[in-house]
Amino acid sequence: MNKFIEGQFDAVVIGAGHAGCESALALARTGKKTAMLTLNLDSIAFMACNPSIGGTAKGQIVREIDALGGEMGINADKALLQIRMLNRGKGAAVQSLRGQEDKNYYHTVMKQTLENTPNLKILQGEAIEILTDESGSKVTGVLTSFGGVLECKAVIVATGVYLNGSVIAGEWKQNSGPNGFQASNGGLTENLIKHGFKVRRFKTGTPARVDARTIDFSVLDIQDGETDIYPFSFLSERVPQKQRPCYLTYTNENTHDIIKANLHRSPLYGGLIKGTGPRYCPSIEDKVVRFSDKERHQLFLEPEGADTNEIYVQGMSTSLPHDVQKAMYRTVKGLENCEIMRYAYAIEYDCIDSLDLYPTLEYKKIEGLYTAGQINGTSGYEEAAAQGLIAGLNASLKMDNKEPLILSRDDGYIGVLIDDLVTKGTNEPYRMMTSRAEYRIVLRQDNPDFRLTEKGRKAGLVTDERYGVYLKRVEEYKKASEEMQITAKPKEVEDLLSKYAYQKPQSGISRADLVRRGIPLSEIIETLGGFEGISKEILDTVEIDAKYSGYLEKGLEQIEKAKRLEQKKIPGDIDYLSIGGLRLEARQKLDKIRPTSLGQASRISGVSPADIAVLMVYLTK
Ligand SMILES: Cc1cc2nc3c(=O)[nH]c(=O)nc-3n(C[C@H](O)[C@H](O)[C@H](O)COP(=O)(O)OP(=O)(O)OC[C@H]3O[C@@H](n4cnc5c(N)ncnc54)[C@H](O)[C@@H]3O)c2cc1C
Repeated sequence: MNKFIEGQFDAVVIGAGHAGCESALALARTGKKTAMLTLNLDSIAFMACNPSIGGTAKGQIVREIDALGGEMGINADKALLQIRMLNRGKGAAVQSLRGQEDKNYYHTVMKQTLENTPNLKILQGEAIEILTDESGSKVTGVLTSFGGVLECKAVIVATGVYLNGSVIAGEWKQNSGPNGFQASNGGLTENLIKHGFKVRRFKTGTPARVDARTIDFSVLDIQDGETDIYPFSFLSERVPQKQRPCYLTYTNENTHDIIKANLHRSPLYGGLIKGTGPRYCPSIEDKVVRFSDKERHQLFLEPEGADTNEIYVQGMSTSLPHDVQKAMYRTVKGLENCEIMRYAYAIEYDCIDSLDLYPTLEYKKIEGLYTAGQINGTSGYEEAAAQGLIAGLNASLKMDNKEPLILSRDDGYIGVLIDDLVTKGTNEPYRMMTSRAEYRIVLRQDNPDFRLTEKGRKAGLVTDERYGVYLKRVEEYKKASEEMQITAKPKEVEDLLSKYAYQKPQSGISRADLVRRGIPLSEIIETLGGFEGISKEILDTVEIDAKYSGYLEKGLEQIEKAKRLEQKKIPGDIDYLSIGGLRLEARQKLDKIRPTSLGQASRISGVSPADIAVLMVYLTK
């Protein structure tokens, strides 16, 4: 191979998926000369699976990315076809935005943003080697399959589902990335193994896309979006008032019979698929086998875009043979005459063990080498984008010898995500869920900027425009919170209280107490006035704060308690193997993961509270 210098950069990002895009923008926007490599410019920010952004817990992540100065929320608002708040009937801690996206337009807009970002060069090409200095402990560049060398001080590897990608449906198997895009099998995996990474095989699957002209929507339940709802980004004006619907349908006994009759041809059950799949995103054949008591499984028909007839059949991903797919999709109500435009398939790909990473997502064995996204064992656009943002920002901060950005579990879902990856690791594709976040009542959908925008500002990514919007919200929130404590005279609220079957109070009652009695803030304002110039969003937030004040107080107490352990830093060179009082399993686990704090140590599986007590005494001495 004839090698040549393609260019000198501060950083190189391998991958233009959801992780790579956030990394490249974070680096370039904080002044770093950055190059972004991708196998195909047409796969920039490609939504390989569901045409949606957000969903339970994922919606929280998107708004956190936005609050930190990332791009996903802004891009998602621009390509919205429909948006809804999920779990409206449940508590505020589990409500999440979910947007149906126009996939092609999502790609087009993100590509435009990248192409017009100063300091950023985009290059189509395959990375096959990460170059290091002679000691092998520091990054120096990236080699491409065409011999171009991109010299740099930091590399972010965000190769997603492409690394030795192979797609499978029944007996059909091909080396390929998603959607027919080229796979990355030029040798990068072998190079990562040479650099000491532990590589394993994961898999995920996607359903078929069917032609809308061949679906009978008239027999299906329609699911419309919401127009009186806030968008993903704090910088977006409002959501589109004209939205496209989704449709609800179900599998049935015929569907299940066809699946059961062909399980022997399933690569999943036939052993052709070796990779570990996502427990919380099962294929339809998995659902039929695991939940055999269920007569039907819910499916959503989702538009893939405004300018296409392609419909995504959410809930019916599979790797069964093409002929079986043709038969089983046509058993579904409304799809009896459907024509498949893209068959479903499973994809297997290489990923690394995230326990080898610091909470900055830097690789412990090679300085300046970071990994982000699906390669770290996660599944999902949102999880990938969050890691890309954190890895990109930390690579930039490190180059400036500035303090790293490490989010804790009470800062946000992003903090939970990364802490789980680098402290507990994952043996299957990791999907974020609200149940993973112990402080979810604090980490809500409506207040991420109050928790994160100052941190994004300190890291140099939050623009003046965004900071201005944030400061205005802080002002409003302060004013509204004060007004919530203002007490009303019994006479003023007598009628309102009696409407909710309460007696006339003996003494004054605050707006917050009225809310805690279940009276909507909107009615309190109708009765008592006030809250002038306060946006609906902030009113929602102070109403939730009042309603859940008890849980919030308890949550904040737990956070304070956890913070004390988090602040106990552990020196990097501690020799766990020589600490007598520690149990053998704990010594081995601590030596492998090398936690940065007692807090992180306490979350490692196999390290008991007794071990933490021993460690605390050892550190004090
Ligand atoms: C079939 C399928 C089903 C899925 N199902 C789900 C699901 O059910 N739920 C869910 O949440 N998510 C699902 N996903 C996952 C979702 O697509 C990913 O989580 C997300 O795209 C990961 O983002 P990423 O940035 O890590 O990588 P990707 O979006 O995969 O992007 C990787 C990028 O790296 C580039 N690249 C790779 N190797 C090289 C190289 N050597 N040199 C240069 N560039 C390179 C590629 O060109 C691409 O630009 C599915 C994906 C697929 C393909």
